[in-house]
Amino acid sequence: CFCQLHGRIDDCSCSIDTVDYYNNVKIYPRLRSLLNKDYFRFYKVNLKRDCPFWADDSRCAIRYCHVETCQEDLIPSGLKGQAKQPAEKYKDEELNCKDDYNAELGYLNTTISKRAREEFAIWTTYDNAQENFCLIDENDSDAEYVDLLLNPERYTGYKGFSAHRIWNSIYMENCFKPRNSFHTYIQSETLNHMCLEKRAFYRAISGLHSSINIHLSAKYLLSDKSELGIDNKGKWGPNIDEFIRRFSSETTNGEGPNWLKNLYFIYLLELRALAKASPYLAREEYYTGNEGEDWDTKLAVKDLLGIIKSFPEHFDETNMFIGGEPAKKLKEEFKHHFRNISVIMDCVGCDKCKLWGKLQVQGLGTALKILFSGMFDENVPELYINSKNKRDFQLERTEIVALVNSFGRLSTSIYELDEFRHILR
Ligand code: FAD
Repeated sequence: CFCQLHGRIDDCSCSIDTVDYYNNVKIYPRLRSLLNKDYFRFYKVNLKRDCPFWADDSRCAIRYCHVETCQEDLIPSGLKGQAKQPAEKYKDEELNCKDDYNAELGYLNTTISKRAREEFAIWTTYDNAQENFCLIDENDSDAEYVDLLLNPERYTGYKGFSAHRIWNSIYMENCFKPRNSFHTYIQSETLNHMCLEKRAFYRAISGLHSSINIHLSAKYLLSDKSELGIDNKGKWGPNIDEFIRRFSSETTNGEGPNWLKNLYFIYLLELRALAKASPYLAREEYYTGNEGEDWDTKLAVKDLLGIIKSFPEHFDETNMFIGGEPAKKLKEEFKHHFRNISVIMDCVGCDKCKLWGKLQVQGLGTALKILFSGMFDENVPELYINSKNKRDFQLERTEIVALVNSFGRLSTSIYELDEFRHILR
């Protein structure tokens, strides 16, 4: 069967079977329960920002594109800023940097004026923002909380010109596409001639695309009961024909199985980011104002991180962006393309798709920041060290929520893919 994948995942040392086992048995059940917690359930996002690239082709009128708004009293007080916000910074004693930083920074602190120090602080904040792969909605006054459990990602009916324009501009303009390539996607042979970083970029986006399309096939609208006059809700479930149409070799010029493999690639990339940031994530408070639940969330996160760290063959990001000036330039280009994709999400013409598209792109952007900014490296750059010789930066709450939820989406896709395999068998 085209979806019975085996062997090594491209550009990784790990096998498909290992991921299937680890995900379906260990990671997926834990994530399912974790993502029900209030901290991860409410996501702050601006769905009203104008599309800067083309005149918006209308707000979509499809009813399944509608996003249910959050009841104000359901949003935890801690998230609304009505209670103390613990600002946990990175305090990993084991990862402290060399002693000479202390001496150097101590010298700086006594010699530079207060004003200069303030300017330095502003500049550092600005510079930290430079590491972001996405624009962040956390402090955007038009951003609102959305209850993700009320708005599951599933088939909405969004398709045709508007959906294709988004995917086209992502692949054709922002995916390091070779010049003479006329398909939306990059063919496997062409991909093999590209450098690792460009391949990784394409694979991550294609894997995200596969994940979205697996979800909509697994939670397809099987019957619209409201049209039958029964009630307001439809019946959702797996649509095997839809899945075959999207991924079989026959209907995709042989590319479908590669697109499915790309799902495993992006999964490993985000898994590695979570493992790399685990000392930081284990120290977070997961504060919502409800002491009991916050404690449970913290324990559940630690349990998940323990499993993730024990994963046998992690993605190795240290092979990427090495080699002086050209590598630095490539990284900037990589970041620029990714930021563009995050802005393109404002052009998605279906609010529900936009919500999940934004969340997943932000989650991937956070993973890339963890892997490539240097902030989470063992030898952290001087820029992120404060006068007490400690790492001095934070992930925004929205970045953590997006990262864990987007990893939850990928984990669910791998689980759903296995269910399709069972049906096809
Ligand atoms: P599309 O999925 O639109 O793909 C366009 C072309 O891209 C294909 O013809 C093929 O050449 C190529 N392609 C397809 N898959 C891959 C891949 N994995 N890697 C590389 N190339 C590929 N619809 C919903 O019902 N629910 C949702 O939640 C939802 N969320 C969306 C979020 C975003 C950000 C976008 C842009 C679209 C979303 N959609 C959603 C729409 C959905 O993704 C499809 O665009 C739509 O169903 C039309 O599908 P299609 O068969 O025409 O091909």
